[in-house]
Amino acid sequence: MSFTDMESADLLPYGLGSPELVEFQNGYFVCKDICSDLARLDALLKENGFRLRLESAYRPFEKQLSIWNRKARGELALLDEFGKPMQRPQDEEELMYAILTWSALPGASRHHLGTDIDVVDGNACPEGYEVQLTPDECTGMFAKFHKFLDARFAANEAFGFSRVFVPGRGKIKPEGWHIAHLPTSRRLLDGFSLDTLRRIYEAMDIACKRVILSRLDSLAEDFIYPYFI
Ligand SMILES: [Zn+2]
Repeated sequence: MSFTDMESADLLPYGLGSPELVEFQNGYFVCKDICSDLARLDALLKENGFRLRLESAYRPFEKQLSIWNRKARGELALLDEFGKPMQRPQDEEELMYAILTWSALPGASRHHLGTDIDVVDGNACPEGYEVQLTPDECTGMFAKFHKFLDARFAANEAFGFSRVFVPGRGKIKPEGWHIAHLPTSRRLLDGFSLDTLRRIYEAMDIACKRVILSRLDSLAEDFIYPYFI
C-alpha cells in the first residue's frame, strides 16, 4: 500500500494527515488534546511570576521538509555543532549528518505531533530581544524559569509535560527549551512504523534521499527511538 492511501489518523505519527489543532498563542497551534493541561501549566507559571511564551509549536511534515531541502541546497545556512556557519559538504552522507546537527529528519520531528513546544519566560525577556533558543539563554536570562520547571518535572507535577532532548539521550543535541506533553505524544507515536516512514521518503522529493534510505535503521536508533519516551 502506498502511504497516500493511508487514513489521516494513521499519518499523524509522521506529521502528515490533518491533526485537530487549536491556536494556543498568537500563531502557535497545538494538538487539541494537550490544551487543558497546557492551560494549567500556563496558570501555574503565572502564579509563580513567570509568563509562558511559545516560540515554536506545531510544524507539519511539509514545513520540516522545506527546511531540510533548503539547508541541503544551500538556501538556508548550515551551522556546525558550535552554531557557526559551515561549508556545505559535497559528500551526501556528510551533508545529511551536517543538517541533522540542528534539524530533525522530516517525519521524525516531534514538533509535527502538536504535543511539543519550545518555551521561554516572557517576563524575563528583555524588551526588543529576539529569542534564539540557545543553551546560553536557558542558563542565562531564563535560568529561573527552567529551574522552576525542572523541579516540577522531577516531582511529576507538570500536568504531563516533560523535557525530551536531555543530555545522554540519543544523538540530538540537548534542547532545554523544548517540552512535550508525554501522555499525548506516546499515544500518537504508538502507531509509528519505520517501514511506513521509509515508504514516505521513497515517495517524496527529499534531499539526501539515497543515504537516508540506506542508513534509516541507524538513523532511527540515534535520532528517533531514543525520544519515544
Ligand atoms: Zn523544539
